[in-house]
Amino acid sequence: MSLADISARIVAATQASGRDVNSVHLIAVSKVQPLERVESVLTAGHRLFGENYVQEAAGKWPDLRARFGAVSVHMIGPLQTNKAKVAVELFDAIHTVDRPSLAEKLARLSQDRGQCPELFVQVNTGAEPQKAGVLPDDLDAFLTMCRGLDLPVQGLMCIPPEGEDSAPHFVMLAAMAARNGLSGLSMGMSGDFEAAIAAGATHVRVGSAIFGARTYAN
Ligand SMILES: *Cc1c(COP(=O)(O)O)cnc(C)c1O
Repeated sequence: MSLADISARIVAATQASGRDVNSVHLIAVSKVQPLERVESVLTAGHRLFGENYVQEAAGKWPDLRARFGAVSVHMIGPLQTNKAKVAVELFDAIHTVDRPSLAEKLARLSQDRGQCPELFVQVNTGAEPQKAGVLPDDLDAFLTMCRGLDLPVQGLMCIPPEGEDSAPHFVMLAAMAARNGLSGLSMGMSGDFEAAIAAGATHVRVGSAIFGARTYAN
């Protein structure tokens, strides 16, 4: 697979669903990838990336932005409250708003800065105990709280349980977003982005299908 193949599959899936081709954004997930693979995707002209770790992103993107010009980088991994300040300075969007303490911290920081990244609330659609995200039953109250804090929540994000069909989770997330008047849907990864697009994804997060398998140092 390559960036061009994945882009073509996204266009095909978008058209197959009768949607506007420009309605789906491809986030190239570059976490723990060797720098030369990231550079080659930048050289190919792609300008939207996803990262999971604040420290890794902070060590990589200031230099890449200086060399390649404006690049949007989205935070898609769990965000510790004590890294929120660095995160709002570094990222154009945060997909993992998942608890009141983080929402409050982001609200304070954006008041101080006079600007805030685009925000997505992560929903734990499978109610998995080990997984981050607001539980489906708690979502509406959490969004009400975010609105009370003046946070610019654009949409919802989910990571369906491994080994399960993702499609029902995508459909559930789309329904929750529609019910709350939110237009953004961050869902779909290398193995299931076409199903996510069929269910209405606006942001698909694709890593290994573009860059190759990740090798984690141990
Ligand atoms: C790593 C990661 C991805 C990309 O996963 P692939 O299977 O490599 O496409 C997408 N979303 C999140 C939240 C991730 O952590």
